[in-house]
Amino acid sequence: MIRVEDRPLARATAERLSAWQAELDAVDDYERRVEAALEAYRLRSRTKVFEDVRSTLRSMCSGLERCGYCEDGPAHHIEHIWPKSRYPERTFVWLNLLFCCGDCNERKNDRFAVIREGTLHELPRQTKGRRTPPPQGQPAIVDPRREDPLEFLELDLVDTFFVEPRVGLDERSRLRARYTIDVLQLNRREVLVEGRRDALRDYELRVQDYASLGPRAPQGQRERLLREIARLRHRMVWEEMKRSPDLVEGLRSCLESAPELASI
Ligand SMILES: [Zn+2]
Repeated sequence: MIRVEDRPLARATAERLSAWQAELDAVDDYERRVEAALEAYRLRSRTKVFEDVRSTLRSMCSGLERCGYCEDGPAHHIEHIWPKSRYPERTFVWLNLLFCCGDCNERKNDRFAVIREGTLHELPRQTKGRRTPPPQGQPAIVDPRREDPLEFLELDLVDTFFVEPRVGLDERSRLRARYTIDVLQLNRREVLVEGRRDALRDYELRVQDYASLGPRAPQGQRERLLREIARLRHRMVWEEMKRSPDLVEGLRSCLESAPELASI
């Protein structure tokens, strides 16, 4: 999981989202506000406005339109990082939307937790007719639209290929990192773990190919390899390789001799 670089929505789209959100915010009862949010989203996510939302989110994905959480599956679903069924005030908030794959969408669903007084509180399941506002507190999930997940998470590139909380985090950040890993099942899905292992090899091979290009290599060949690296899955593998270049044989010298690689 890496940070999703923001791209601005078209002005008219941003204005529509703000207006729709204002309509929901004007509903004074929490339960009715949630019902209104679910219905409004159901209807409005099919409009032309959301075609622009989708295409902008798509342009922000890593690799070939990969999921903003796991970086493996194709991103097709608009995910509300703060679930709209609990936080209707974020239903049409641009920074609350993320393109993710069906698998991550299903696993996270409307799960959410907050940290209050140093303790993690998972929000209880909501049922229609018995909705209550969530407790105050800092969200537990690391938010790739607003935060840099690499400050919380690290990837074991040598042995397990698991995502783990970064060494040296304070207790609150460690809780958040652990919750994020668990709720998205980043290590329990074998396809992700093996995908990262394969990705390391793919990145290594292409970096070696790039580094072995002689000074007379055509510019088009260089650009093609750079493009291929940018399109690979599991972008976190590449980011971790750049953060810890000594873990991969020869990578430090490749990055030093071809600094353009570091900017991918
Ligand atoms: Zn995913």
